[in-house]
Amino acid sequence: MKTLRGIAVSPGIAIGPAMVIDLRRVSAPRRSITAEGVPGEFQRLDLAICLAKVDAEAAESEARLRLGPQYADIFGAHARMIADPSLLRDSRARIERERVNAEQAVAEVLDAYASRLEAMPDPHLAARAADVRDIQRRILGHFQPADDAPSPTGGTVDSDTPIIVLAADLSPSETAGLDPALVLGFATEAGGRASHTAIVAEALEIPAVVGLGRFLDQARDALAVIIDGDDGLVILDPDEPTLDRYRRLAAERVARFQGLTNLATLPAVTLDGCNVGLWGNIEFPAEVSPCLERGAIGVGLYRTEFLFLNADRPPTEDEQYEAYATVVRSLKGQPITIRTLDLGADKLPSYQGRGLVEANPVLGLRSLRLSLREPALFRTQLRAILRAAASGDVRLMFPLVTSLDELRAARRLLAEVTGELLAEGHSVRSNLPVGAMIEVPAAAIMADKLAKEVDFFSIGTNDLIQYTLAVDRTNEAVADLYNAADPAVLRLIKMVVSAADARGIEVTVCGTMGGEPLHALLLLGLGVRNLSMPPHQLPEMKRVIRAVRLDQARSLAAEALGLDSACAVVTMLRAALELTLPDGPPGQCSAPTR
Ligand code: PEP
Ligand code: MG
Repeated sequence: MKTLRGIAVSPGIAIGPAMVIDLRRVSAPRRSITAEGVPGEFQRLDLAICLAKVDAEAAESEARLRLGPQYADIFGAHARMIADPSLLRDSRARIERERVNAEQAVAEVLDAYASRLEAMPDPHLAARAADVRDIQRRILGHFQPADDAPSPTGGTVDSDTPIIVLAADLSPSETAGLDPALVLGFATEAGGRASHTAIVAEALEIPAVVGLGRFLDQARDALAVIIDGDDGLVILDPDEPTLDRYRRLAAERVARFQGLTNLATLPAVTLDGCNVGLWGNIEFPAEVSPCLERGAIGVGLYRTEFLFLNADRPPTEDEQYEAYATVVRSLKGQPITIRTLDLGADKLPSYQGRGLVEANPVLGLRSLRLSLREPALFRTQLRAILRAAASGDVRLMFPLVTSLDELRAARRLLAEVTGELLAEGHSVRSNLPVGAMIEVPAAAIMADKLAKEVDFFSIGTNDLIQYTLAVDRTNEAVADLYNAADPAVLRLIKMVVSAADARGIEVTVCGTMGGEPLHALLLLGLGVRNLSMPPHQLPEMKRVIRAVRLDQARSLAAEALGLDSACAVVTMLRAALELTLPDGPPGQCSAPTR
């Protein structure tokens, strides 16, 4: 048994067989051969290449079934590259010329291909080197006796057994393609707490641990794995007592979930009578039901870009209209805040291939600035949202607003599109509430000005923390520096709330922080009255809100604003929560299906 520690990003316990996705190379043993040995090495080479091709084709079919088309296409391209006659020709030439064994020859040929690609100035081509390394690993694997040849996908698992995915990294769109019925949990070497991959895992309620650093080599032969998404642990080949303990924990989580279901119909009100709006965040239409069942008063954030990520082309206006109207209708009159596209950075649609490669994508062409650069795409989405707004209580918000100019440009487009739709005879609400997400320090600092031009604010703490502390939210190497409780972040939140209060507009916190019980008192004390979160957090957040007092929250927040460090704030919050909650500290729960 081996226990590894990473970053817990999606709560829950998963126990099952592992499927390893490893795109790294393995090294080849070098042997000198005689002239008589050359034909034998040719034969070994032919066989290994042939088996590797079959293997890549099998991985393609399996990935199509379990992980979606993006991974499948990668393996399909690998199969074609393995079958390319120049690989066989160059490797044979090297065996003959240098009198080396076949594995050494093919490894050197592929090393040379990869190095040439890595040296390319075009980043798209340079990125292909990783594929060459994968092919190298796959072919070399077939020079070993079949019994101990490393499989490209870990142990053999039959195709309807649910599995645990262990990978170097998963992009948000790859994660969005995972089927929770087939993937019990996942763990990755890369990643951070507030990455979009983490957000999708939470949305799908798939337990996940990221940021483990290099571990796939140790995991390759593991028969069973436990993912502990509460404490950020991955346990390879757990022993019986550990398995028993985790089975018990999983059952306790379900019991806890059932114990909290009665809270769904009770109001989220503090002991001293302050009402708090608890909203759900959704990425997929299927999340509306869990939001409602768990007592959300509406959807505070609909991340519409997930409709684009796994598509082979941008959805048309009608397709978008259908998707948004279905979500709006399924809320049966409860309010929903639809966010316009937040594409770019780590959220690249598959139809863009490896996309626009930027040196600093998080500071680059993403979100609202990308939408403004592509007015046709943006207008199509605005038309679809405005049409869907006729079906219910819809509010619209722009992500990553950085300046007043940007907000005004977006509002101008919205006004134009509204006029167009009215002229075409559509019934469109001309007074649709429009909000700005505050997730860039510049917007927080200018919140007093922005507040005069919108109907509400929604604070995106995931990005606000990233940009305030200059810490990449997806990078495990700096994950320890990413902290919502940093006094610098708290001061910005306070500024935003004060600016909104001065204009009488509403503020919601819809980043991950808004669903974390540890931060509930702090946000209340800072003046936030609306919190939007993944549906699974709703019951526990309601329990916390109903157990605290606003005056206590206010004095805690005042104290936090004066502290020197995130660590001091966290220590204070933990102590306060432990003293306050009658039924023990915040815990985790799972719906019965998990
Ligand atoms: C945020 O940044 O906090 C937010 C809600 O937006 P996203 O996580 O989608 O970037
Ligand atoms: Mg954001």
